[in-house]
Amino acid sequence: MNILVINCGSSSAKFQLFDIDNGKVLAKGNAERIGIGNSKLTYNPDGGKAIVIEQDMPDHKVAVKMILDALVNPEYGVIASVDEIAAVGHRVLHAGKYYSESVIVNDDVKRVIRECFPLGPLHNPANLIGIEACESVLPAGTPQVAVFDTAFHQTMPPKAFMYALPYEYYEKYDIRRYGFHGTSHRYVSKRTAEFLGKDPKDLKIITCHLGNGSSFAAVDGGKCVDTSMGLTPLAGICMGTRTGDIDPAIVPFIMNKEGLTPDEMDTLLNKKSGVMGISGVSSDFRDLAKAANEGNERAQLALDMFAYQGKKIIGSFAAAMGGVDVIVFTAGIGENTDTMRAAMCKDLEFLGVEIDDEINTGLRGKEAIISKASSKVTVCVIPTNEELAIAQETEALVR
Ligand code: AMP
Repeated sequence: MNILVINCGSSSAKFQLFDIDNGKVLAKGNAERIGIGNSKLTYNPDGGKAIVIEQDMPDHKVAVKMILDALVNPEYGVIASVDEIAAVGHRVLHAGKYYSESVIVNDDVKRVIRECFPLGPLHNPANLIGIEACESVLPAGTPQVAVFDTAFHQTMPPKAFMYALPYEYYEKYDIRRYGFHGTSHRYVSKRTAEFLGKDPKDLKIITCHLGNGSSFAAVDGGKCVDTSMGLTPLAGICMGTRTGDIDPAIVPFIMNKEGLTPDEMDTLLNKKSGVMGISGVSSDFRDLAKAANEGNERAQLALDMFAYQGKKIIGSFAAAMGGVDVIVFTAGIGENTDTMRAAMCKDLEFLGVEIDDEINTGLRGKEAIISKASSKVTVCVIPTNEELAIAQETEALVR
C-alpha cells in the first residue's frame, strides 16, 4: 500500500511517498516558494538522481499537481498512476482540544482545523490548504488523514495543562497547554517500549525530542501526562531561536523599553532568541559546539543553558510521574550529539541515571541503550521518524 505524506507550510509542501508494507520511501522532496515567485520542486526518487523542476507554483494546488506529476513521470516517476496512492497523511499542527488521535478528514475535521487557526496561525491555514489541494487533484474518494502535532498530549490532566490565568481566558479562548511534536513523542515512546521488549503500560518514559525545536514529554503507561511546550511551541527548554520559558513579565518590560509592537515582540521571542540569541553565533548546535571548542564563551554558555534546562525538565517530569524507568533521546541533537546527552544526564545519578560513556561517545542516529547495566534508569537513543509515523497512522486508519 502506497501512502503519500504531506507537510504543508505557508509557502512550501514537503512530501514522502511510502510503500508502507515494507516502510520504504519510494520518493521524497519539497515544493518551495509557492505563491511567492521563483518556485521550485526538488524531487528525489529512491535510488535515482535528485531532480529540480523550476516552474511557477502560484498556489498549493499547482504544487500538489506538480508533485503527483513527478511521481508518475514515465522517466523518473516511481508509480504508474496516481490510483496507486491509497491515501494521503497530512501533518497538521493544531487540533486544539478536539482530537487525541489521527482522523480521516471530513467536513467536521476541516471545521476543527479552521477553528484552530487562531492557535496555529502560521501552520493550520497552510495544512488545510494542503488537504484541499490534494482533494481537488487526487482521484475522488482517496482518503486524506490528518495527523495532529497536538493529539498525543490530549491525555494530560487539567492540573498539567492549565495556566494560572483568570479561568475565563480558558473558557473564552481555549488558552491552555497543548504541546507539540506529538507524533514524534508517540512514535518514539512506543518504539522505545518495543526496543526494550516491554509493554508501554509498565513504563514511565521521558521522551526528549531535541532538534531545532525541542520538547519533552512525560509518558506514563503509554499516555502523555505532561509536556514542555505550551499553547504554542515557544515554551519549555530554550531552542535554536526560541526563548523557551522565561519570566512572562519580561515581555511587557522589553516592549516598553524598546517600543516594540506585539508582532515585533513575537518575532524577538521566536526568531531572535534561544541559543542563537545567547551565542550570537548560530542556532545550529554543530556551529555552537565548534565555536565553544574554539573558546567562544557565549557559545559555551548557550550549550550549558540548554543542558541545564533540559536536566531540570527531566527532573520535574520524574517527579510528576513519581519516578522514571526510561529516558530517551531523539531528533537531530538527541540522536547525534553524545556530549549533549551526557551533559543533560550529568548529576542525575541521584535519580539512578548512569550513562555508559563508552557506548554513548560517538553514537549517532541508531537505536541503542546508552546507560550502564547497573543504571536504575535505562537511557536510550531512538531515532524519530515523523513522516513514517504519519504514514503508519494513516495506513492504520484507512485499512
Ligand atoms: P532537527 O530539527 O531534528 O533536524 O535538528 C536540528 C539540530 O540537530 C541542529 O541544531 C543540528 O545542529 C543538530 N544536528 C543535526 N544533525 C547533526 C549531527 N549529525 N551532528 C550533530 N548535530 C546534529
